[in-house]
Amino acid sequence: MSTILFNEIIFGPVHSRRLGTSLGVNLLPRFGKWCSFDCLYCECGFNKDGKEDNRLPTVDEVKVALESTLRDYTKNTGKIDTITFSGNGEPTMHPDFAEIIDFALEMRAKYCPEAKVSVLSNASQIHKPAVAAALLRTDNPILKIDSAIEETTQIIDRPQFLYSMKSLKKNLEPFRNKFVLQTMFLRGEFEGKAIDNTTETEVNEWRKLVTDIEPREIMVYTIDRETPAANLQKVSVEEMEKITAPLKELGYRISISG
Ligand code: SF4
Repeated sequence: MSTILFNEIIFGPVHSRRLGTSLGVNLLPRFGKWCSFDCLYCECGFNKDGKEDNRLPTVDEVKVALESTLRDYTKNTGKIDTITFSGNGEPTMHPDFAEIIDFALEMRAKYCPEAKVSVLSNASQIHKPAVAAALLRTDNPILKIDSAIEETTQIIDRPQFLYSMKSLKKNLEPFRNKFVLQTMFLRGEFEGKAIDNTTETEVNEWRKLVTDIEPREIMVYTIDRETPAANLQKVSVEEMEKITAPLKELGYRISISG
């Protein structure tokens, strides 16, 4: 499979289906992956395949790279819709995540006040008050939950820690109406186990979870590129429309990327 690693601290801007012109910030190793999950569909590959580089960028390196890119880009090239923390793993695992977010907010105000600051996160660190507070200072804390059923999360996302939906729900309370829920729908097979988070039971539980945790917005999507696990399949836009329709009727803002 092809693995996509972002070999710089700042990458792009890239055109994102969901975020527009997005300048990426990678707080993870530049030539390796570091994540608290090990999702079957991760574009960065499996964790075990990305261990050669485990050096995180320092706060100063991030600050210099971000400010110089924003200054040059906004002066010479054009408009940025969002500064997006994503990259080669889970950005909130960086020990100085909160300080870096504050710097990004400062740079946004200085160079591109119309841009949003977004973080793509798997929500595994939101039990840490400093991480939760920093995420809540951004415009778009985009938090991934692929299933309301713990066993399914274990199969698809393979958390590398003691994962508990009960704790996650509790930790999400301060995020009520303030975060963007992101869910990947897919099906297939891995190591002899069937994978499908679109069954009736899965979808019913997922809808219940949504009305329980109340995201401000929902992004659902499916596989777009080659995945580290072979045998995974896309879910069609029509199916995702059906899955999300009752929530739309309840007034949730939902975007679907096929
Ligand atoms: S949470 Fe994101 S970075 Fe981590 S393994 Fe899953 S897809 Fe990859």
